[in-house]
Parts: sequence; C-alpha cells; structure tokens
Amino acid sequence: MPHRNSNPRIYLKQGREVPALRGHPWIFSGAIERMDGASDSAGIADIFDCRKHWLARGVFNPASQIRVRILTWKDEPLDGDFFARRVSRALKLRENHLARAASAYRLINGEGDFLPGLIVDRYGDFLICQFLTAGMDRLKEAITASLSKVVSVRGIYEKSEGKVREEEGLGASVGMLGGSEPPELIEIEENSFKFLVDVRRGQKTGFYLDQRDNRQLLSVLARDAAVLNCFSYSGAFTIYALGGGARSVISLDSSRLALELAEQNLSLNHFAGDNAELLKGDAFSYLKESNGNFDVIVLDPPSLAHRRGDVEAAAGGYKFLNLHALKHLNAGGYLLTFSCSQHFSSDLFQKVVFGAAVDAGRRVAIVKKLGAPIDHPVSLHHPEGEYLKGLVLRVLD
Ligand code: SAH
Repeated sequence: MPHRNSNPRIYLKQGREVPALRGHPWIFSGAIERMDGASDSAGIADIFDCRKHWLARGVFNPASQIRVRILTWKDEPLDGDFFARRVSRALKLRENHLARAASAYRLINGEGDFLPGLIVDRYGDFLICQFLTAGMDRLKEAITASLSKVVSVRGIYEKSEGKVREEEGLGASVGMLGGSEPPELIEIEENSFKFLVDVRRGQKTGFYLDQRDNRQLLSVLARDAAVLNCFSYSGAFTIYALGGGARSVISLDSSRLALELAEQNLSLNHFAGDNAELLKGDAFSYLKESNGNFDVIVLDPPSLAHRRGDVEAAAGGYKFLNLHALKHLNAGGYLLTFSCSQHFSSDLFQKVVFGAAVDAGRRVAIVKKLGAPIDHPVSLHHPEGEYLKGLVLRVLD
C-alpha cells in the first residue's frame, strides 16, 4: 500500500484533487483539508484525496502558498535513484539534440523536467544549481549525489538566490556542492561562437541559455545591417549579429560588469573592431532620446512583471520600449522583441506590441513567433512554466 510509510499525509478538500489528477504539480494551501503527521518544516509528503485515496508524492513547505510540489504520481521513494532517473532522462534530451551545438545548456528546467524547484545549467565541465523551493533545498544532498553520478563534470556549484526563494522563506545559498571550483570565467561554445561566463558575479547562473535559437535567427537577419542590441548583457546577440555579417552593432546595457564581459566576448570571437560599440546607459532613455536609425533592433529587457499585480505597469514598460524601438527602424527593418515575464501572456504581449505599432504609426508584420529552445521544456500540465516569448516584426515603411 502506497501510504504505508512515515511521510506526513496531506488530505485535499473534496473536488480539489482534479488538478493533481491531471498532472499539475502544484497544490495551493487553499486546497488542503488537513495534514497528518506534519512537521513544521519542509519535507516529503504523501497526497490523498478526501476519500483517503493516495494520489501523489511531493515536497511540501508550510511557509509557502504553493504548499506542495508533486514529484511523482507513482509509489516510488524520492531517493537518490529517483533523482538519478529524472536527471538521466533530462540529460538524454540535451545530449541527443544539443551537445554538438553547445557546450552549455539547461540540464534541468524545473517543472518541465518534472523536478519543480530545481534549475541546473551546464557550462562545459561545471554544473550550476539553483534550489528554488524549501522542499528541493531539503533534498539537496540526494540531488547533488545523483547529478555527480549521472553527469560527468568536474565541479558542482550552487547559486540559489532570488525572489522565488524569498517567497519560500529561504535566504541565499551560494558555494561549492562538490568537485573542483569553477574558474573565474568559464569558456563555453555555442554554435561555433565562444563566450565567457562569470557564474559568481554574472546574472542568474551566468548566461542566458534560453535565447540560443533566437540569437541564431538574428545572425541570419543581420547580414549587412546596422543593429541595435538593447539589454545586451554579455553581448551574446551582438556576437551572433557580427558573425552573421552585420555592418555595425551598438550594444546597450546598464551594467558595467555586463559590458566588461561583452568586451571580452568580442575579443574572444575576433570582433572587437570599430563597428562594435558598447554603451552603458538606460535603454528607456536611449530609445526615447537617440535619433539613430537601424535595420535591426533587439529588445530583451529583464522581467518587467515579477508578480501578477505588476502586469499593468509592465504593459506600460513594454509599450514604451517597443513604440520607441519601432520609430528607429528603417523601412523593411526587423525588431526582435521579447518578454521573459512569466505573468505576461503571449497574447497580451502581442496586443501591447500592436498598440505600440499603432502609436508609432508603422505598419508591421509578424515574421515569426519565438520562444525558448529544447533544453527549456515546459510541462504540458504546467503551462505557467512558459515564460519566454518573442516576436520577430518587420516594418513595411
Ligand atoms: N539579451 C541578453 C540578456 C538580457 S538580460 C542575452 O542574450 O544574453 C537583461 C539585461 O538588461 C541585463 O544585462 C541588465 O543589466 C540589463 N538592464 C536592466 N535594466 C536596464 C535598463 N534600464 N537599461 C539598459 N539595460 C538594462
């Protein structure tokens, strides 16, 4: 019998088992009738419906609104072997389809790899982990052991920080989990370009792996073009544009560290010429005040909506950026515009960009809709996991 173990038991209210039965991994506090044998701290729990039928097993956190994250719908222990099986499954997808194009990829994408609360990025011989929920934090040892068993790397580094952890009642946790320390800068290769990744001081785990395919597309569109790359971080879009034969690229970011990395990445790829300008500044003011014209503009801002309540303000921000970017485009030019806000739907994003086009007085076609690459799978049962959306737009005149 699945429930003959010492795990705390969570009983759901009548009718509230439906999302879990359909495979959604989250159980909110309001769906829970009661909990037996519960401790005050996070850990593994078994989930039952109101008739005491066993449903699933997951990790719970008494301090979070998302009280439970389901890890399995099968009666199996959540031990090292379980995590090793999940990690091997995830590794196959990347090794079969990506390993030749990139020495860096997202190995575990949370819910999309059926490991909610866990992000693992691979940069060459090193893994960078983020344990984002208290439940996964508790299982850190078993997860780290399974990673070192399944993936052959030199070191595993933890960089667990940010808003999601705060909401879980957790502080930052940063440092080595096993093996040897990564160097100050890890060199990675992506579609024959090279990049330096600063996992300690850089943003997120150090590099925006989710834009890999979209950068490849930019390199196709950028031939002979004057390109403006707004929110350029370490210059990844910039390098692809120059690789694709761009005439000139301006890279704009507000972070000095980001621009320093971009400078090093330009040299590393032998693109550090007069046609590659790095600018420190605020993209909102630059777009409003500059009077330059471009053939291609990339807009990849940080998330403007961290919470559901931020959506309206974010819409204003996205509209402003897109409106002013569209004004700077030459006839026939392209805008690659993105939102990485999970709370901002692709429909809403398209509407906002439409409003921007109308106000800018431009006629615009959608050439392509963009998203994240295959190392960022999204669970069909958890559409909330789809955060990156983008549009390639072309202006008529
Ligand atoms: N396109 C990048 C990732 C962009 S992340 C890539 O593919 O690697 C967002 C970037 O926006 C960060 O580098 C951050 O420093 C920068 N940023 C945030 N606010 C900004 C602002 N107001 N103006 C310019 N840059 C900003």
